[in-house]
Amino acid sequence: MTAKIINGREIAKEIRKKIFEEVTKLKSKHKVVPTITTIKIGKDPSSELYLKLRDNACKEVGINSNHLEFEKNISEDKVINAINELNSNVNIHGILIQYPVPNQISQDKLMSVIHPKKDVEGLNPYNMGRTLSGDEHIIPCTPLSVLTILEHENVDLKGKDVVIINHSNIVGKPLTALLLNRNATVAVCHVFTKEIKQYTSKADILITAAGIPKLITKDIVKENAFVIDVGIVKTNEGICGDVDFNEVKEKAGRITPVPGGVGPVTIACSLKNMLKTYKNCLEGT
Ligand code: NAD
Repeated sequence: MTAKIINGREIAKEIRKKIFEEVTKLKSKHKVVPTITTIKIGKDPSSELYLKLRDNACKEVGINSNHLEFEKNISEDKVINAINELNSNVNIHGILIQYPVPNQISQDKLMSVIHPKKDVEGLNPYNMGRTLSGDEHIIPCTPLSVLTILEHENVDLKGKDVVIINHSNIVGKPLTALLLNRNATVAVCHVFTKEIKQYTSKADILITAAGIPKLITKDIVKENAFVIDVGIVKTNEGICGDVDFNEVKEKAGRITPVPGGVGPVTIACSLKNMLKTYKNCLEGT
């Protein structure tokens, strides 16, 4: 059996269309252009492409996206001051930090300073707490992307065995909460897990975000599983994910490719969150 290949670009296009319609309505009602600022510290070639794609997506849906750039040796205090100014600027409706940030700066500290209502990435401790407790409001973009794909495919998560390979703050931890909120049974594997096969071979849904090419081979995947590959790795042969796509697609029921799977949906989910922060600002919450 060959798996159904999920077209992330199509899903992203549908999301952008809906967002464009809603942004257009809100703009004409409130006469305010949604404006989002991304803080960039130093130059990171790997994040430039993502940023360019996201800026293009913003343009397409009518969101104004600008960048606030700092040298890589800037102090944490200066960046925090800049975030505080953006927090109180009524013309800015959302704030993002471009990762990675240099070592002298704490990513967590920056996230905790962004006002929760302008927190496009949903990584501020207040928004993370809401996600964890089931009172979901602004959900981190990558977990939201995985959830959006599962919802698009009408997957009922209740009672499903789900395995996540990733325990980072931006992917694995919030994704675990989202899946538990929907009554899935979730196992989280990571670099210190003794034998991932023990878990992956039982997974109805396998979500991997390790950044290791060919980590997921056919022999460790359950027959007919839904395999979602979040990993993005640049190799000599181009961009790939964690999954050995050609062999796993012969065993899985559904599978996301890399590129063209989770990535474009994540960018569209970032627009979803921008719409939320814009509405938060308009409604004064
Ligand atoms: P990270 O380095 O913070 O986390 C990597 C995770 O993988 C950790 O939990 C680590 O323990 C685990 N891991 C690493 N090697 C492993 C192994 N051999 N076996 C099992 N677990 C292993 O990275 P991150 O920021 O969470 O991103 C992870 C991957 O997802 C990267 O490839 C990144 O480019 C990609 N990513 C993709 C999107 C998207 O939209 N598609 C968004 C964010 C991140």
